[in-house]
Amino acid sequence: MRQPLLQELVSEEDRLVQQAVRAFVDSEIMPVRQQLDDDRDHVLIDKISEKLKAMGFQRGIVPEKYGGLPQRSVVGTGVVMEEIARGDVGLAVSLGCTWWFTRPAVLVDNEAVLRKVAAVFCGDELCRGCFAMTEPEAGCDVENPAQHGKRISTRATLDGDEWVLNGSKRFPSNAGISAYYCVVCTTDPTLGDEGIALIYVPHPSEGLSFGKFENKAGMQADRNCDVFLDNVRVPRENRAAGPGGDARLLHINLTLGRIGSAAMAVGAAQGAFETVLEYTKNRIVAGKPIREHSICAGMLADMAIGIETARTYYLTAAYMFDHPETYGPLESPGHLSRGSIAKVHATEVAIMVTNKAMELMGSYGYMREYDVEKYWRDCKEIQLWEGGAQLGRFDVVRGYYGFQMGDR
Ligand SMILES: Cc1cc2nc3c(=O)[nH]c(=O)nc-3n(C[C@H](O)[C@H](O)[C@H](O)COP(=O)(O)OP(=O)(O)OC[C@H]3O[C@@H](n4cnc5c(N)ncnc54)[C@H](O)[C@@H]3O)c2cc1C
Repeated sequence: MRQPLLQELVSEEDRLVQQAVRAFVDSEIMPVRQQLDDDRDHVLIDKISEKLKAMGFQRGIVPEKYGGLPQRSVVGTGVVMEEIARGDVGLAVSLGCTWWFTRPAVLVDNEAVLRKVAAVFCGDELCRGCFAMTEPEAGCDVENPAQHGKRISTRATLDGDEWVLNGSKRFPSNAGISAYYCVVCTTDPTLGDEGIALIYVPHPSEGLSFGKFENKAGMQADRNCDVFLDNVRVPRENRAAGPGGDARLLHINLTLGRIGSAAMAVGAAQGAFETVLEYTKNRIVAGKPIREHSICAGMLADMAIGIETARTYYLTAAYMFDHPETYGPLESPGHLSRGSIAKVHATEVAIMVTNKAMELMGSYGYMREYDVEKYWRDCKEIQLWEGGAQLGRFDVVRGYYGFQMGDR
């Protein structure tokens, strides 16, 4: 059984899309989910990604007026992310980041950027996008609103009608396999928020190069590596908004990233929960199925409580984001706080669920063919990326008072 989604939060249309994606995941991803982490050449991964593209999710990142599709709400995007992550978190993050990198340009309707992105992403090729924030010397500090961009070292300098970018990025999703990069940089770190710049860089561009793909615990469908920018030149119009506006867009994108991360964590937890429910139905210990022992039923109840509360909360945060006219401007600390509550809570739930699922399956839970260990590996990284559990908590309290720790 699965609890129904609250109709007030998730529209009829979004529920239909969710059901279609769920059916796709059941038929196309579930049967091969164990193989995806070994698919280093992306043969199987690209095949599945092509089918997701055929369902309109690639073209859907571009607004309809530039040749794309009607834009999905954050609630609608969240339920899609959750369903794909239920099959494979790597596929969800790769698709999610392709949507994510366009959001700054979409939020300010930057026509110049969106026309260029549309020309690539609305075509026949399978394309991915990258939102590149993290740097070798600063991960959380790039995202920390209290640091006001002072720790960003990738520099953008205006030379006539072109931005010249220099610096490097570490770990961003879809690095090295993207058609476009939204690079978080600064025109001058001493300017603080006014210096923060989000600049769109196409691939290939002269001076744009990559390091080796990271060897990770999982999520093979997502690729991560160093991104080097050595005098990369792009037109001036490739900046998302301008001084002050780009800092606002960065913080809004962090909220979107937190909500999306929460949705993926819920999807992974749901995948593990379904697996352990089935397993404990059939495996007999001390004369009856594992799940008929009261101590084990209590553990399954804790998992269900965690998943349902985490799902309801991320959908609530997404719904409030979709309704700024009621819940305040998108850049307000309240939205980042709610997105952070959703991510901190959902990732802790997912880590708890996968841990307990493994306990209930004994050593079978640790075996790859039983799937739970895959979710167990992936949930941990969802917690670590985008600020981790600690910066996430600081962003939670910033919704309640002007917490400024780290502003040194
Ligand atoms: C699979 C994957 C996907 C990723 N996707 C992206 C992406 O799409 N784009 C992108 O830009 N990056 C991406 N990253 C990078 C990721 O977001 C960063 O690694 C993450 O934000 C943390 O940065 P860091 O690793 O440098 O840790 P650090 O910044 O060094 O922080 C380490 C720890 O210090 C603590 N900490 C941090 N700040 C504070 C503080 N103010 N006070 C007290 N303690 C603190 C926390 O415990 C934190 O976990 C990805 C990474 C992986 C592995």
